[in-house]
Amino acid sequence: MDRIGYEDGTLRVEGLSVGELAGKFGTPLFIYSKKELLSRLERMKQAFSAVGPTICFAVKSLSNIHILTDLAAAGCGFDIVSGGELYRVREAGADMRSVVYAGVGKTDRELSEAIGAGVGLFNVESEEELAVLETIAQERGARVEAALRINPDIDPGTHDFISTGKKETKFGIDIDRAFAVFDAVKNSPSVHLCGIHFYLGSGGHSAEPYAEAARTGVDLVCRLRSRGHELRYLDLGGGFGNDYLSGESPAIEEYASAIVPHIKGTGLRLILEPGKSIAANSGILVGRVLFRKQGGSKTFIILDAGMNDLIRPPLYGAFHFIWPAEAAEDQIPLRMEERMDLPGLEKVDVVGPICESSDFFAKERYLPHLERGDLLAIFSAGAYGSAMSSNYNSRGLLPEVLVDGNEAVLIRRRQDYEDLLGLERLSGNNCIGKN
Ligand SMILES: *Cc1c(COP(=O)(O)O)cnc(C)c1O
Repeated sequence: MDRIGYEDGTLRVEGLSVGELAGKFGTPLFIYSKKELLSRLERMKQAFSAVGPTICFAVKSLSNIHILTDLAAAGCGFDIVSGGELYRVREAGADMRSVVYAGVGKTDRELSEAIGAGVGLFNVESEEELAVLETIAQERGARVEAALRINPDIDPGTHDFISTGKKETKFGIDIDRAFAVFDAVKNSPSVHLCGIHFYLGSGGHSAEPYAEAARTGVDLVCRLRSRGHELRYLDLGGGFGNDYLSGESPAIEEYASAIVPHIKGTGLRLILEPGKSIAANSGILVGRVLFRKQGGSKTFIILDAGMNDLIRPPLYGAFHFIWPAEAAEDQIPLRMEERMDLPGLEKVDVVGPICESSDFFAKERYLPHLERGDLLAIFSAGAYGSAMSSNYNSRGLLPEVLVDGNEAVLIRRRQDYEDLLGLERLSGNNCIGKN
């Protein structure tokens, strides 16, 4: 908690207090620190500098166009997974050569648009997709570079829903099929299959699976090269742990020292696709307490923010550190970790207003006493917060604010009631079978 942290009992994002920001832009509200985002990108570049990595920010984790524009201006590449994300990074002025396109289900239209846009690398996930990519590239008279997503059968030890590198997932193809796939397109004039892509899944708490993936990858590259294939890229994906709970995740430097020795001297270009390790701790979600309520022996703190704004706790059982925007000095924890030993805490469930019992942010959490009107910050909400939010319960999407030093800029306005009906107000003839 450097750029997002407490000063004299007041939570600040860079130079501005959360109270001021909530007063100006209303709640609930997403707030991001520009310096935190950019310094995390820079720190990753530095950590891997021995192999000159191409860092491709995972757009799906935080996709606001203004943030993508800032990252592009800082020389960041992008990992995209849809035509919509392709559109975003083009609008953000990305260097398309540093864009990798991943995803198990790319449509013909998406592939065609990505080829037209000059996307640098296609991460192909099946033999059928490779054949379709080849056909479309040929039709467009293009030659594209592609990497094969291989399932390394490595378990990063995370939640089942976010672990993707084990054999029984829908992602990638089995490693023993790789040779046949490379051989099949060896002389293709339109697709140059010249990379290996691994993605272990999100939120690992150890660097060791990455060392293993780098070893496995380089070994596979050597064997492919000895069969006459030209290999240029090793893409180790994202999923680097983020400190949702302080101290649990390795620092990015630890990942680097696990990975870099395997890559150095291979002539391979290392690609990384970080999402939450850049974005998560660069943003918070701020909600206001609507009500306190007693239910049996439990105390509920009901916020104006809900699971439609941040779905990670119910979806993945994710932990988010939560603390009031104003607290007594002796109630400020030094790190983002659960504390029960500070004075005057009470055990509460922090929940939202949505008509679902899974609408919660924290259960049985010790927090300073909260009253109606108090502001509560949900930390590490920069990644997969706004990006996964929805209009469920006809709640408008939240405003997003980007803080840079002593300035804050609204980078997305709050959706209003009429916005919610926008796509449903139709004119003209939209029927079939009716006259
Ligand atoms: C989601 C995703 C990422 C980013 O994952 P994080 O856990 O946010 O770092 C990177 N690459 C691919 C292919 C992904 O699907």
